[in-house]
Amino acid sequence: MNLDRYDLVVVGTGFASSFFLHRYLQRSRGDLRVLVLERGEINPHPWQLAGGHEAIKRESQRSFGNDTPEKPWHFMLSFGGSSNCWVGNTPRMLPEDFRMRSLYGVAEDWPVGYDELEEYYCDAEEIMAIAGPRDGAPFPRSRPYPQGAHRFSDVDRLFKAAYPDRFFALPTARPTAATSRRPVCCGNGVCTLCPINSKFTIANELGHLYEDPRVTLVTGAQVQGVEVQGGQLVTGVSFTKDGRVHNASGDLVVLGANALFNAHILLQSGLDQPELGGGLVEQVSKTVVVHLDGVDNFQGSTYVTGHGYMLYGGPHRSERAAALIETVNRPELRNERGKWRQILRMRVIYEDLRRPESRVRPSPDNPLRPRVSFAGASPYAQRGMDALEGEMARILAPLPVERFWVDAEPNRTESHILGTTPMGNDPARSVVDRHLVHHAVRNLVVLGGGVFPTAAPANPTLTLSALSLWAADRLAASAAVA
Ligand SMILES: Cc1cc2nc3c(=O)[nH]c(=O)nc-3n(C[C@H](O)[C@H](O)[C@H](O)COP(=O)(O)OP(=O)(O)OC[C@H]3O[C@@H](n4cnc5c(N)ncnc54)[C@H](O)[C@@H]3O)c2cc1C
Repeated sequence: MNLDRYDLVVVGTGFASSFFLHRYLQRSRGDLRVLVLERGEINPHPWQLAGGHEAIKRESQRSFGNDTPEKPWHFMLSFGGSSNCWVGNTPRMLPEDFRMRSLYGVAEDWPVGYDELEEYYCDAEEIMAIAGPRDGAPFPRSRPYPQGAHRFSDVDRLFKAAYPDRFFALPTARPTAATSRRPVCCGNGVCTLCPINSKFTIANELGHLYEDPRVTLVTGAQVQGVEVQGGQLVTGVSFTKDGRVHNASGDLVVLGANALFNAHILLQSGLDQPELGGGLVEQVSKTVVVHLDGVDNFQGSTYVTGHGYMLYGGPHRSERAAALIETVNRPELRNERGKWRQILRMRVIYEDLRRPESRVRPSPDNPLRPRVSFAGASPYAQRGMDALEGEMARILAPLPVERFWVDAEPNRTESHILGTTPMGNDPARSVVDRHLVHHAVRNLVVLGGGVFPTAAPANPTLTLSALSLWAADRLAASAAVA
């Protein structure tokens, strides 16, 4: 394959890469030359509905070796990455989540603060047309949510009355008003493959980026390494396509292949740093089921409707993990006459900390397939979960409850992949700096959830998308591409 030199080579087309590309193109001159290498193919929505979606999910699982299969890692290798299968819950992190070491003596502070990221959060929310509460939020906001919130269920309304400052409508990329490209969410509860293409995906809102005349998109191209001169300068990438190895040169290389594959690509390229590949982490959740006394549920207008912050902020974070509570609005029936809808399911999602033993490493026998192992939730997260039963009794006290129970085992996955290429100010304890530029190789950028130094309770995708906008702004300015 004959590929000339590019100003910018981008790996992947998921959230991380596409939000970066979006802002970089906005800030760049007309003759910029961008190459995008995507391992998957363009899979149109009707084709996915006809069975292709499940086939890609299965195929994606074969892309890595899991040494601890009791802990699954889910994602989709396809144009648009896991935007094809995400659910679309989009909380921000709280300001305190960025300052865990300073405030609670736990883990690390992020090298970027909430205030610096705030305008990028707003921009990412506008791009995704997020529907969220306009009558208050748990975090400071400089602009209102682009769309009004989804309708609460009656149970959400009871929570809101009991906890006016700690219970809110869940912000989501499932719209309450049609955008020029997407219809209103129909509330069917099968969001991982939205039947009406309402949920934000890269294909339905940002697909136009890849038709920009400055951009060349090559699909079916699996990047296997970055080429580094003298340990300090990246000159391009190597990739396989159609069974052959190719090279592409670039002045700036941006990795957005997710936290498993970004780390693997760097490890395969000989860029060994103490933190690289270690610290694979995600949040961990418990399910709580409540039998209600005389209150019907499921009047909400989307899959998950409420967000409870009753277990989130506070001094307990010095000792045990904070949690975010989701109230689920997907209907289910209670098997008792006259009480069919008097049931509530909640997901209580705890933050977790990076552990060095949980890691991505190269396979000795296959340079294209990482191996992954997970050491389990940290004692910090476990202490949070251990306290749940008692805390839930207190939280539910203002509601009409017959009984409730907490599932004994945590859910197996949150489908978030974080922590393998952390950002930080100290090169000995992190892989990239606060602008997501590699500490040693200054024309190499690493995006996505891998850069999270801690896994706050909030779902990560809005934050990693905002970080991509933040990094692109800085790099486009310093490269003087405008
Ligand atoms: C079922 C499910 C539900 C989820 N729900 C939510 C939610 O409600 N809220 C939330 O915040 N998050 C959710 N997530 C997580 C969310 O999808 C991820 O945080 C997000 O997709 C990460 O974006 P990314 O661009 O870093 O990675 P991805 O979306 O994984 O994109 C990576 C891209 O890189 C490509 N790629 C990989 N390796 C290579 C290579 N070697 N060469 C070239 N290309 C490569 C892939 O094909 C893909 O296009 C969910 C995830 C799943 C699986």
